[in-house]
Amino acid sequence: MNEMKELQRLREGNKRYLAAESPLGDVSPELRETTAREGQKPYAVIVTCSDSRVIPESIFSAGIGELFVIRSAGFTIDKTALGSIEYAVEHLGVKLVVVLGHTHCGAVGTALAHEEVHGKLGAIINEISRAIGQEEDADRAVELNVKHSCEVIVKNGIPAEVFGAVYHIDTGKVEFKYKVALAPNSHK
Ligand SMILES: [Zn+2]
Repeated sequence: MNEMKELQRLREGNKRYLAAESPLGDVSPELRETTAREGQKPYAVIVTCSDSRVIPESIFSAGIGELFVIRSAGFTIDKTALGSIEYAVEHLGVKLVVVLGHTHCGAVGTALAHEEVHGKLGAIINEISRAIGQEEDADRAVELNVKHSCEVIVKNGIPAEVFGAVYHIDTGKVEFKYKVALAPNSHK
């Protein structure tokens, strides 16, 4: 199977992160100046959780100008997230979108516990609850939440390849789970 080169680049970046080779991503003053002058050309969009243990650039050994990152607690996809993804795909030419969930996710854990949550956080937890349904297993719930966010992106007609992945916060490994494709007749 021919895998897209952007996805291979993420896999290789994660391998370097696991091997803790140094240096990781390029954050040099030279690259900073070049990208400031010439603009950005990121190769992937990463939609992930705000959890401070999840550092997308480190996980994929990426430097300045490589990843276009959208983060929120539980990475539910709302209008602003969709708008950001659209910007990256349509204006910056990114072809790959990865929704990156992670193990031990607090937002998913809160939804699993069926705790009553007030305020704006409630909207996030409700969305995650819809995604995970009756699931009780934490790891499977994370995967369902990833899948749901992938599906929302695809259903909104974002013209990019959308992959779901899970980051293991203990081992540092990223598992690419699946590619989400739209059923042929479900596109409006
Ligand atoms: Zn999380």
